[in-house]
Amino acid sequence: MKRILVSGGAGFIGSHLCTRLVSEGHEVICLDNFFTGSKQNIAHLMDNRLFEVVRHDITYPYSVEVDEIYNLACPASPIHYQHDAIQTIKTSVMGAINLLGLANRLNAKILQASTSEIYGDPIVHPQPESYWGNVNPIGVRSCYDEGKRCAETLFMDYHRQNEVRIKIIRIFNTYGPRMQPNDGRVVSNFVIQALQDKDITIYGTGDQTRSFQYIDDLVDGMIRMMDTEDEFIGPVNIGNPTEFSIRELAEKIIKKTGSKSKIVFEPLPHDDPKQRQPDITLARQKLGWEPTTQLDEGIDRMIAYFKETLNL
Ligand code: NAD
Ligand code: UDP
Repeated sequence: MKRILVSGGAGFIGSHLCTRLVSEGHEVICLDNFFTGSKQNIAHLMDNRLFEVVRHDITYPYSVEVDEIYNLACPASPIHYQHDAIQTIKTSVMGAINLLGLANRLNAKILQASTSEIYGDPIVHPQPESYWGNVNPIGVRSCYDEGKRCAETLFMDYHRQNEVRIKIIRIFNTYGPRMQPNDGRVVSNFVIQALQDKDITIYGTGDQTRSFQYIDDLVDGMIRMMDTEDEFIGPVNIGNPTEFSIRELAEKIIKKTGSKSKIVFEPLPHDDPKQRQPDITLARQKLGWEPTTQLDEGIDRMIAYFKETLNL
């Protein structure tokens, strides 16, 4: 049994990770400032003696004795991370410095939840980890993209300079239960719009692509990465390589829900990447990992989840 710190543990991904770690018998300390996370997400863990929650903002130092740290704290939806751009970049950069300092003092392993946004609007397709990306450093997405890039730099420098035991994963678009209904990401938006027979809002032409990964596959990949030997530090892509256009996604969700919704086209947000697909060769080799839940099955679960939780 290990003692594990999960920053951002009350968020969408964090709450699933905490649940899985507790179910495996580990003691979990969830650190969260509840900016985009909620107590509701972790309500089922509150009575568990292996689980603790601490309200804390990781831009300030925090100290506790642990064996492993998963750093997930950071708003992930474009509307949320752009709401307070300065706080977003502070969270990525100062949060990384604070938690890397803690890992250094404890000789703990620390995993960074990095992102496919590292690749920006990629020119290389699909994206291998060796690709350096095509990122606008001064745009509206930069607080997130550059913050996450700087966090990767910090992880690498703490590793090279202080031999901190780091792991970096680059997460591609992930969806599943406990996404906030109002967080603006595409899968939750479309499913909720379809269930309410409201217009499905495609931004731009809908020809842009994404590759959607179900939450359980991601959590499995994260834990496998943390459990690798110290020599393997990544970065490693964790995502589902099956690529869909946003228009295909909309049509699939309308069909599955039997919705009367119409598709409407709205302006494309600034710097919206045109394509995104992970090359997961490295994850297959090093983690023996690949996704097992495909979009059809995952969307069915999302539909069932929102029907139940939102009474639709
Ligand atoms: P989320 O917004 O649901 O969760 C983020 C959590 O971090 C929330 O609980 C929030 O309250 C907390 N948080 C934010 N700032 C904080 C701070 N300063 N101090 C303490 N807690 C703070 O998002 P998510 O989808 O669960 O994403 C989790 C992580 O995974 C993020 O780091 C994100 O960048 C990364 N990621 C997610 C995706 C995805 O598709 N969901 C893709 C790539 C990377
Ligand atoms: N998108 C859309 N309609 C929506 C929400 C998102 O067409 O209601 C598009 C968005 O412009 C982007 C894609 O769907 O091209 C994925 O958006 P999301 O915010 O989920 O993730 P990210 O852009 O960070 O990959």
